[in-house]
Amino acid sequence: MENYWHLGRWFRIPVSMHWTVLLVFPWLWLMMQSVVGALVGSVAYALLLVTHEFGHAAMARWRGLSVEDITLSGLHGQTSHSYPRSELDDILIAWSGVGAQLLVLLLALVARYLLQGAENPVVALIAGPALMVFTLWNLFLMMVALLPIGPMDGHRAWRVIPYVRKLMQRRRRSRKVVKLDPERRRALERKSEQIASEVIQKLGKKK
Ligand SMILES: [Zn+2]
Repeated sequence: MENYWHLGRWFRIPVSMHWTVLLVFPWLWLMMQSVVGALVGSVAYALLLVTHEFGHAAMARWRGLSVEDITLSGLHGQTSHSYPRSELDDILIAWSGVGAQLLVLLLALVARYLLQGAENPVVALIAGPALMVFTLWNLFLMMVALLPIGPMDGHRAWRVIPYVRKLMQRRRRSRKVVKLDPERRRALERKSEQIASEVIQKLGKKK
């Protein structure tokens, strides 16, 4: 793979990063006018990308698939795994990247609440850019990931709607089969009572 750096194996998964991830640094620098802020923000951004991909990887493993590798690039990454065994597995894996990001968002909101009013300048220097990436940028990345097009997760994730609809249709149909009309149910009950009484009679005769 050209233009990729191998970052080693994390949780037994080879992870590599495309150089375009680094573009976030000058972008943040221009935005914040602070090298430290941009550096913290860049690390937070890379962590967010990693969290998203490991969300996919964890779900794939949970569904019994093998995860081959993870690559990170500018706006999104890619987790390669063996072929999903079912439509449901495919949908669950597609959602799990954004699911992991949602977890980060919730933790960041709690952290932001707890750090309210903190006057320590070091905390402000680190928490400011990190929390911005984990909240605002995080939401933006989630929306990008869920676009229902081509290589994005949304392409597979939104198949959950026809999937659930089909499931409900099937359930409705099977309920119809089980439901007997009252006439037929009474006839069945009479029949079973008759059989039961015959069995009891036969048992009585044997004594
Ligand atoms: Zn994804």
